[in-house]
Amino acid sequence: MQLSRFPRFRLGHFPTPLELLPNLTRHLGGPNIYIKRDDCTGLATGGNKTRKLEFLVADAQQQGADVLITQGAVQSNHARQTAAAAVVAGMECKILLEERVPDAPDEYAQSGNVMLDALMGAEIVHRLPAGTDMNAAMEAVAADLRKQGRKPYIIPGGGSNPVGALGYVACAYELLHQSYEMGLHIDHVVHATGSAGTQAGLVAGFAAANSGVPVLGIGVRAARPQQEENVWNLARATLDYMGVPQSVLDRSDVVANTDYVGDGYGLATPSMIEAIRLAAQTDAILLDPVYSGKGMAGLIDLIRKGHFKKGENVVFIHTGGTVGLYAYRHIFNT
Ligand SMILES: *Cc1c(COP(=O)(O)O)cnc(C)c1O
Repeated sequence: MQLSRFPRFRLGHFPTPLELLPNLTRHLGGPNIYIKRDDCTGLATGGNKTRKLEFLVADAQQQGADVLITQGAVQSNHARQTAAAAVVAGMECKILLEERVPDAPDEYAQSGNVMLDALMGAEIVHRLPAGTDMNAAMEAVAADLRKQGRKPYIIPGGGSNPVGALGYVACAYELLHQSYEMGLHIDHVVHATGSAGTQAGLVAGFAAANSGVPVLGIGVRAARPQQEENVWNLARATLDYMGVPQSVLDRSDVVANTDYVGDGYGLATPSMIEAIRLAAQTDAILLDPVYSGKGMAGLIDLIRKGHFKKGENVVFIHTGGTVGLYAYRHIFNT
């Protein structure tokens, strides 16, 4: 299956580095921990949405769109990368924000990603209360724009549809190539999973390559059955879109551990704060409070519980979000 048959609009710096975290590995005394630096995709502070947007923006251009519409939480890394992609592609960007995190302080409402959205010229059309039907709200904005003769293109939350998930099929292939170059056998891939496109693309790509690389998603929002169902459905739709038989993927290839969500999406947990401090102070890796911090908290806990063995090679995908740290300054003041 050649990904080159899908249109791609270049936005990022690829391949991203795959490197050992020597000090964190030594500190935990478990498996060798490698990090895939998708925080270094290069698009306006980077992150995992850049890979998805390369395919989504190309699709939008093919459809003759002149304005991108998307949605996310106030500190959405996806919204920020979409704003950046629109700038590069010469399109307008309309963002709808859901006030999903309760009792958030001013810095959450104003700093970090949302500050950068505005800086890059995206229009924040609405800030809507938690629980709003965001898809319907985006459709309404698109309908208004069409009436004005515009050509809107709606990107779902997190860029998670089969077009966007191709970005993580590409990442799976990139990892297989890098592991071959480095002579590294990858025993596990671990990353934070939210809107499911990252994990769906990875499992679809690894299965299409018949690689046998297991993927563990650490959940940040939904409970396990729902999260796995979302990944499974999107992975199969992605294989379909790629023209690969869905039978290459087994339901047992989709595994999410949602034990590290805490009280909810975007809400701090002690293990997330510990993981962010530890990664910063061992190998100078800057994680984020909503996704990669909880993902790393899961990885650390599972290592401590002996889930991964000494001598195994675990690749943690750093999905980005570092600028979200500024929106959570209050949780690090001790
Ligand atoms: C969006 C995001 C994720 C989750 O990726 P999904 O494809 O939505 O599951 C993980 N980490 C960061 C930093 C993100 O912004």
